[in-house]
Amino acid sequence: MNYKNITVAGTGVLGSQIAFQTAYKGFYVNVHDVSEEVLGHARERLAKLKENYKKDLGETQQAVDEALNRISFYTNLAQAVADADLVIEAIPEVAQIKTAFYKELGKVAPEKTIFATNSSTLLPSQFAEATGRPDKFLALHFANNIWKNNTAEVMKHPGTGETVFLDVIEFAETIGMVALPLHKEQPGYILNSLLIPFLEAAQMLLLNEVADMETIDKTWMIGTGAPEGPFAILDTVGIATAYNITLAKANATGKPELEKLASLLKTQYLDKGKLGRATGQGFYTYPNPSFASPDFIRNTKSITDSGIR
Ligand code: NAD
Repeated sequence: MNYKNITVAGTGVLGSQIAFQTAYKGFYVNVHDVSEEVLGHARERLAKLKENYKKDLGETQQAVDEALNRISFYTNLAQAVADADLVIEAIPEVAQIKTAFYKELGKVAPEKTIFATNSSTLLPSQFAEATGRPDKFLALHFANNIWKNNTAEVMKHPGTGETVFLDVIEFAETIGMVALPLHKEQPGYILNSLLIPFLEAAQMLLLNEVADMETIDKTWMIGTGAPEGPFAILDTVGIATAYNITLAKANATGKPELEKLASLLKTQYLDKGKLGRATGQGFYTYPNPSFASPDFIRNTKSITDSGIR
């Protein structure tokens, strides 16, 4: 891997974080967005990120200033990618916007340039043809709050070249990420392929009145040693996101139990402003949710007293 110049397209939530982390690790980074006005917001986001690196990572003012100085700003795509070894795309999660972007990028980028999409839900094979260079294209998916949550899922599509795959894995490690290679395309990558069915299974146990929420969480925590159960995780993810995922799946599959679950999330939680940890109330009440109490998983008194064990 001999990448030197990196371009990040899209300077929103994720794009600004990817650009800053990459510059922080010593690369020269060009960022590209649609207008000078949006690039102004990007400068504000980057200034805020400097504070996060100081507060959370104990970084010096000099180190974060130097990182920002390695970032250049462009509205013109051709100029932004003129000498790019790698372009990381973090533009909106809308297939038509990404397709149009890759068609244009494929025309203006030098032949050497590798393209990577940070898309969370769209598959790289959807855009491979539009890039005009399918062998030099793959997914490189970061998590929000990249400086703390340092995963980078690197996912091939069927046409991705092996050297490109290995180089992007090495690049991800070079910028301080834990690279997680996926050898085949998988919607939801690894994390959401595990998490979404797990959370759905927990919600179904509740919906079908098999057990109450706290018993379900306790079972998971005691049985696996995990610090949190599925309903605590749902509160962190946010109940609006859980609702959107459930509703989309209900519409796609027509399964009545998913419609019932979506309706429960809406009427019992969203409509009452219970959105999860961010609003102080979701399945649990914050800042002191019952699952965080040391007694939560030890509280087997009633069972022992009743002679069950
Ligand atoms: P965002 O809406 O915050 O930012 C998108 C940026 O792209 C905006 O600044 C917008 O002006 C810019 N843009 C729009 N069209 C463009 C174009 N043609 N060329 C260049 N820039 C353009 O979005 P986000 O949350 O940062 O998400 C971006 C991508 O990252 C999506 O694919 C999303 O799935 C993925 N992602 C997001 C998260 C997250 O937590 N937000 C996590 C992982 C991956």
